[in-house]
Amino acid sequence: MNKPFFAGKNVLVVGLQRSGIGVSKLLLRYGCSVIGTDLKKRDELDPELSSLERSGAAIICGRPDFHIPRDIEFIVASPGVPLYSPILMEAEKAGKEILGELEIAFSVLRCPAVCVTGTNGKSTCVSLVGEIFSRAKRKTVVAGNVGLAFSGIADSLEPDGIAVIEVSSFQLETMKFMKPRVGVLLNVTPDHLDRHKSFEEYLRLKMRLFENQTQEDFAVINRDDETQRTPSRSLRSRVLYFGMNKAGEEGAFVEAGNLKVNFDGETKTVIPVDKIAIRGPHNLSNAMAAVCAAAAMGVSLDSIESALAGFEGLPHRLQNVGSLEGVSFVNDSKATNIDAMKQALLSFKTPLVLIAGGRDKDGNFAEVSGLVEKNVRHVVLMGEASQKIRSSWPGVRSTQANSMNEAVEVAFELAQKGDVVILSPGCASYDMFKNFEDRGAKFAQAFLSLKEKIMAEKKE
Ligand code: ADP
Repeated sequence: MNKPFFAGKNVLVVGLQRSGIGVSKLLLRYGCSVIGTDLKKRDELDPELSSLERSGAAIICGRPDFHIPRDIEFIVASPGVPLYSPILMEAEKAGKEILGELEIAFSVLRCPAVCVTGTNGKSTCVSLVGEIFSRAKRKTVVAGNVGLAFSGIADSLEPDGIAVIEVSSFQLETMKFMKPRVGVLLNVTPDHLDRHKSFEEYLRLKMRLFENQTQEDFAVINRDDETQRTPSRSLRSRVLYFGMNKAGEEGAFVEAGNLKVNFDGETKTVIPVDKIAIRGPHNLSNAMAAVCAAAAMGVSLDSIESALAGFEGLPHRLQNVGSLEGVSFVNDSKATNIDAMKQALLSFKTPLVLIAGGRDKDGNFAEVSGLVEKNVRHVVLMGEASQKIRSSWPGVRSTQANSMNEAVEVAFELAQKGDVVILSPGCASYDMFKNFEDRGAKFAQAFLSLKEKIMAEKKE
């Protein structure tokens, strides 16, 4: 392989979580001199940093006064570091190029990549696409937010492999070399508006996924989402559309209860919709997108069908955690924005007791008030956004809780047999928890403690 453009350079890696560590290792393998920095203190970061240090990287942690050394030739930013953070603003001012971690990975990649972006559903969709390729016996790695840091493994993939990568809009912000064989844009709804200037800017960023594509590449576009349909018309790549209703274009759709695909001049049935294991209309949309990606990569219908019937989704996304006296408990902690919460509300036919709230991401809760009034028996509110949510949903009964245990107990008391108690916060978790995984785990623990308590009371 030709030497990549970055070989032997002096590089500053900003952000030392999983992807920062992965990319630093890659840079070291190509003879770069690497400084890694993170605002967090050393003991708050991965112990893996020591091995990075042993391999020759200089690590500088917890030092907001750190300035970029003059001899740094370019900066690699981790996806979690916003472009307006002081260190990246300093880089820009000093005229130093800023690249995302994925860009470094793409410049050493020798196999095709399926890249998935969108506001919601990325992790679910990449995992499903990965499952389809695995069942088709294709050498596949799934990387990004779920699975591995892509830069950690990109140069080890053989040309006959497939990389399935989750791409966030943060990574598209610094995009340069990324060229997916198949780019999938699931949906674009307001999120992270705290970070992006406007919705138009956010949409523009998402469409960058297709920027480097040529005619032999595929763009998978949501036909039901008018905002992306319009810009998709001017793409260079071959466009496959997915959406609920049949349309003349190539892609996936639903007809008479079956998920079908129209590709290379033929329309075929993939699977009856009720045989797809992941639940809810949003997951049907994710499934259709995955079918388009698989068709584009030439996977047989058998493998697609068996993956769709077998893949039960990821933890913390509409995950069943158990039931107690006829009340089911569902963990949807990953629903950190309003659209994800809305999808949860649309996914059940039985009444819900909703546990919501957390750190507000400038969400418009009023947008789902009608749906909440219709489908939710009672709301249990937690965290910083409680007051805002309460005033956005004036027609809904609500109770305040101060901890996850209290929320789960109150929710159970309010639920009736056959109801679903669901944690679908519509907010970030950082006001009360480490992250959404921690919040989901605490929900599951609270459910188990409650169950034990009730069982013990019964025995007495
Ligand atoms: P991401 O990786 O984009 O954050 P996940 O697959 O982790 O997406 O799902 C995040 C949340 O969004 C979950 O609550 C999930 O139920 C919901 N969700 C999944 N797919 C969609 C979709 N297509 N549209 C809206 N919400 C979705």
